[in-house]
Amino acid sequence: MAQKIPVGILGATGMVGQQYISLLNDHPWFEVRFAAASPRSAGKKYAEATAGRWQLAKTYAPDVGSIIVEDANDVSRAVAAFKKGECSFVFSALEMGKDETRTLEEQYAAAGIPVISNASAHRWTPDVPVLIAEINPEHTDIIPVQKKSRGWDRGFIAVKPNCSIQSYMKPLHALAQAGFPAQRLIVTTMQAVSGAGYPGVPSLDMLDNVVPYIGGEEEKSEREPLKIFGFIDNDVFKNAEFPKISACCNRVPVTDGHIACVSLEFMDKKPSLDEIKKIWAAYKGVPQEAGLPFAPKQPIIYREEDNRPQPRKDRDADKAMAVVIGRLRPCNVFDVRFTALSHNTVRGAAGGGILNAELLKYKGFLG
Ligand code: NAP
Repeated sequence: MAQKIPVGILGATGMVGQQYISLLNDHPWFEVRFAAASPRSAGKKYAEATAGRWQLAKTYAPDVGSIIVEDANDVSRAVAAFKKGECSFVFSALEMGKDETRTLEEQYAAAGIPVISNASAHRWTPDVPVLIAEINPEHTDIIPVQKKSRGWDRGFIAVKPNCSIQSYMKPLHALAQAGFPAQRLIVTTMQAVSGAGYPGVPSLDMLDNVVPYIGGEEEKSEREPLKIFGFIDNDVFKNAEFPKISACCNRVPVTDGHIACVSLEFMDKKPSLDEIKKIWAAYKGVPQEAGLPFAPKQPIIYREEDNRPQPRKDRDADKAMAVVIGRLRPCNVFDVRFTALSHNTVRGAAGGGILNAELLKYKGFLG
């Protein structure tokens, strides 16, 4: 078997960091050899740093439990690990202030350590791609521009978008590719508590309750799709103008899995409901064509039952990497409406980050 690429995780002890550790357990290309978190966890073995707050049913490999957690703010530790052949690039799952995260991720890249990030800090940085591997794999073309203009030889930054938009971006992309782009969208999300990290929202705010506010989420949901659906022109991102999105984001007492109820108006041509289902069923992208290890076989799964998708029953579809849709029907105000679900800490966070890393390796940016 070819030697695996050693990877590091920044924020390895948190909700998303734990998913990375768990998902990378048997990964055919990558293995976790470096872990970093806040100074509170630094110096402890990973098992010790996560004792009492490990959130997943699946545990980590014994050799990961004995990794000594480093302080993520000390980039020299990752550089030392790189020199020892223990950290070729890092996944960033840090929860810090935006400015601090932005600066820190740049320090890693400048030190020669590529950063594949889940944090929002760099999503609007002009030379940083916001990747959903099936939708905009060509946005990696900005990476050589980024490296050149910043004078980085080996390091670079690539990020993934917010977890709340994951469930409807691929369905919209599939329709646009088939000649039916969306003009306007009204989205109401019901987002799981794990989306707020650990320990997250206090239980007394969450039990028997819905919280109709998630800081910054509506703005991210309305803006990020425009960069993802945009294109690179003369080494600069040009954002798409459509779809115009109005989002209402709610926190609900569900552990994992964000649901979005979407009403959609098409630009001009309007497909029938049957056509839409066929387009979604046939949808594939580079990850499927290249057979990337974390690519769901069928990225969009449609359920005909009236009462699906449901987080508990559908969030784990195809290793929790597929989007599950149901309730496609005409809309009295726009053209059609549907309900979409994706697993927020897997497809919307660590799994999506791993798929992006696989795409980047496939395209020759990592290794
Ligand atoms: P979390 O559970 O709160 O974990 C935060 C991680 O950051 C922990 O490892 C923590 O280390 C570390 N950290 C906190 N302050 C730090 C500091 N000053 N210096 C260095 N490390 C520090 O958060 P999360 O839910 O995993 O989210 C991580 C990132 O992913 C965030 O940027 C979030 O927006 C993004 N994201 C989350 C989701 C989701 O569904 N949860 C989805 C998409 C994107 P300690 O354990 O030592 O405190």
